[in-house]
This record gives sequence, C-alpha cells and structure tokens, in this order.
Amino acid sequence: MPELLWLLLPVAAMSGWLAGRRSGAGHRGGEQRDLPEAYFQGLNYLLNEERDKALEVFTQMVEVDSETVETHLALGSLFRRRGEVDRAIRIHQNLIARPALSRQQRTYALLELGEDYMRAGLLDRAETLFEEVIDLNHHVEPALRQLLAIYQQEKEWDQAIGAALRLEKVSAQNLHPQVAHFYCEMAGEAWAAGDLSRARTLYKRALTHDPRCVRASIQAGHLARQMGHARQAVRLYRQVPTQAPEFVGEVLDGLYQALESLGQLHRYPEFLDQLLATGKAPVAVALAKVEWLRAEAGHEAAMRWLAEHLEAQPSVRGLLRLVEMSDGAPPVAEGPVEAALHRTLRALLEARAQYLCGQCGFTARTLFWQCPGCKSWGSIRPLRGVEGE
Ligand SMILES: [Zn+2]
Repeated sequence: MPELLWLLLPVAAMSGWLAGRRSGAGHRGGEQRDLPEAYFQGLNYLLNEERDKALEVFTQMVEVDSETVETHLALGSLFRRRGEVDRAIRIHQNLIARPALSRQQRTYALLELGEDYMRAGLLDRAETLFEEVIDLNHHVEPALRQLLAIYQQEKEWDQAIGAALRLEKVSAQNLHPQVAHFYCEMAGEAWAAGDLSRARTLYKRALTHDPRCVRASIQAGHLARQMGHARQAVRLYRQVPTQAPEFVGEVLDGLYQALESLGQLHRYPEFLDQLLATGKAPVAVALAKVEWLRAEAGHEAAMRWLAEHLEAQPSVRGLLRLVEMSDGAPPVAEGPVEAALHRTLRALLEARAQYLCGQCGFTARTLFWQCPGCKSWGSIRPLRGVEGE
C-alpha cells in the first residue's frame, strides 16, 4: 500500500506543525502564518504527483520535537524498506540537523541514516556513522551488528573479529563460532599468499575460540599435510568425527595419505570401523571401507560387505556403488535392467544437492562455509539419510 505512506506525510507534517505552535506560542508569529501555506503547497505537489517536492516541503516545515520524531523515524524506515533510499536519507538527514533532538533520538536517527547508506551501498559512510553511534554510547548493539555486517562484506576479518567480540559483551550472544570462521578466512588468505606458518597460527586461533570449529580442523589438517607435518594432520583430521561426523567425508583422502606417509596405514581401517560402529557414519565412510576391502580382501568380499551394510543403512550412493561393482564389468555390458538401474541412480545423484543450509534451506553441490543465501556461518552441512552423503 504505497499510497498510504504518502498520505502519512501530510499528517506527520501537520502534527509536527501543531506541536511546534503549541510549544512556541507568541515567539514565531510570522512563521506560524507561513507554515499552512507550505502545507498546502506540499499537498499540491502530492496531488500533482511531484512527490519529491512534496517530501521536501513537508520535512522542512515540520518542527521536529519529541512528539513528532517518532513519526519521522517511522516514515524514514518505511521509505527505506520500500527501497526508496534517497528519500529515507533526506528524512534522516533532516532529522539529524534539528537541534531539538535528544541525544538518544539523535543517535537513533544516525543509526537509521547509517542503515540507509548501507542499503545504498555507501559502506564507508555507513561505517563512519555506526562508529559515531557507538561513541555516543546509545544503541550500541544494533550499531555493532551493522558494523559486523559491513566488515564481513568488505572481508575486513580483523575488524570483524573486534566487532564480534565487542558485540558479545553487550548482547550476551555467543559469537565465538563466527569469530572462528573469521580466523579461518584470514588463514585462507595467508595460505593463498604463501605464508603457511601464519596460516597455521590463525587456524590455531580459530580452534582456541571455538574448539568445535570443524572447518578449522579440516583446513588446518590439509595445511599440515602440505607443510609435511603428517602426524599433525592426522591429529587434526581425527578431531572431525567428534566435532561434526557428517563432515568426515571431507578428510578421508587426506587421512589416508597422511597415514600412508607415516607408514601407519593399518590405522586407517581402524578409524573407519570406529566410525561405522557408531551407526552415524556418513556414506563416504562405508564407501572408503569398500575400497579398502577390495584392495585387501578382494572384490567379492567388498561387495558382500557393502550389500550387508546397505541393509542396515540404505543409501542411493551405496547402491550405485554396488551396481557398479556387480561382476566387476561395466553395467552397460550387462542386462538392460542393470543398465537402466545404473543410469537412473547416477541421474538421481547428479540432480540432487549434496549440501543443505540448516538455517534457510539453501542447497548446493559444493560446500560453502558461509551460506550464500542467509549469510550464516557454518550452517551448510553435507546431506544425510538415504539420498545423502
Ligand atoms: Zn542459509
């Protein structure tokens, strides 16, 4: 109902003018005669669809005081929500320029203006305003929240960490998981720039802030392997099942290689069996076990094990593997049933997402540590269940 908003404007202006007249009786006789004229001029602009001019006139004529500030703030945020950011900015700038505002009201208007700037993509200006709001010591929590959003958007991870830790203090919200992700982001940048030891330090910091940060363990494990520290890689990879077992599939190859370089490959099947015994292992673990059995005990034994496993934990991926392995020959060379089954299963797997955001339902075929949909950190996880990983 956009029209209703425009109707609010003359009402707000009139109430503001009346309030001004009540409080300032006798002082501004000349002004009082002029204001209704401006009012009718504003109405005229509205009726002629010259809305910007109407907005100008109405916001200028209003004597902003404690009674009308709220109306202006409501108008401004309504305009912003409708995407009319320029108009929201004008209303808020006009408010801030008024000397009658209390410190708290002024801070709130600054906060609103900051949000307008953010909406308009003027992040630098928004940042300056939010810092001012924090300095004024009113509405600190929403200002910190906005700053945190800006720093993330600008990938200023150092500052994002600072803002998150300050926000934790004023909001009683646990932001350590996010802070850990910010450290992981910094570590990734250091790694990409070739500074491996700094990257390692930053992953360590991530784990200090959030020992359950599965991303830090996975990536630090990969890094340790690249640095030739296989023992450390194994230690990091082995944290994954206790942090978040659904991510184990991400480290199986790395674990295998690290154990191989240590000459301790016998520990690999032990690791798989421990996970399988919990009954919560992702399909990737069962498939790794199948490969291990195929190499150690032969094709038949591997297939038998897989068929048995699928009875307890049915999965499309497992079934596809079983079909592929049947008789060791490519299924196309077999009967039409196997060939059709093979094609269907493959199509089913290819069409389906492998990762799901638990916050907003965003699905993806690759793993994102920050959800592209809702911007949550660590909310995207490998899918589980019959069709899952
Ligand atoms: Zn999401």
